[in-house]
Amino acid sequence: MPLSRALAALAPVPRAASAAASIPTQLLDLLFPARCAGCGQIGELFCPACLAQVQPVPQPVCLRCGRPVANVGRCEGCTAGQFHVSAIRAAAVYADPLAQVIHRFKYEGRAELHGPLGELLAGYWRGRVVTVDLVIAVPLHPKRLAERGFNQADLLATVLCRQVGLPCLQPSVLCRTRETQQQMLLGPVERRANVQDAFNWQGPPLDGCKALLIDDVATTGSTLEACAQALLAAGAGKVWALTVARALGG
Ligand SMILES: [Zn+2]
Ligand SMILES: [Zn+2]
Repeated sequence: MPLSRALAALAPVPRAASAAASIPTQLLDLLFPARCAGCGQIGELFCPACLAQVQPVPQPVCLRCGRPVANVGRCEGCTAGQFHVSAIRAAAVYADPLAQVIHRFKYEGRAELHGPLGELLAGYWRGRVVTVDLVIAVPLHPKRLAERGFNQADLLATVLCRQVGLPCLQPSVLCRTRETQQQMLLGPVERRANVQDAFNWQGPPLDGCKALLIDDVATTGSTLEACAQALLAAGAGKVWALTVARALGG
């Protein structure tokens, strides 16, 4: 099936209307004033002072994994071996206050933070010459999705796609078929084993298309690799990944 038809077969992502949609925004602002998730100051979700502390990843970065390197090219870890993700890039370094904002977004139920965090992705993407055929969020297992109430990567991908005009696929076409432990609790080798074969593409053949995976944080890149493996198996020609933040430790 040609890619255009394959994409057309995948309906646009339906977005649930906010439960508070009928309440006037001004009243909501009065009752629940926005509070910066970085410093707690009332006014904005991610205040200008905290945003000013968001650091881009120092250049040059490894052409594949996106970690800072001394010389242009690939880092030692990416020189040998086969990888499913051609390149991983991040809008910023995973450090406070951004790290705290991401934590509140994911673990403290502050779904509204997808706005400013998605803006960081869009800001990174604007002006890039790369083109992609579709954008896919790293999925959560249905059980984790039910616990959290939202897939943070899907919300981020939606903002990115809306802001820069990229085609975003409904999250159900790439599935996390196996429950996995939280990657942040594991070491690099365990992380790889944890997500191995955990993802499954359930959409039409991808016919050589270029896909962009979206997630909140890249650490070892194991989750992105496992997702990319599923996309390549479904016929994708190339898979890139973009995250809000890149953890530089380890
Ligand atoms: Zn702040
Ligand atoms: Zn590398």
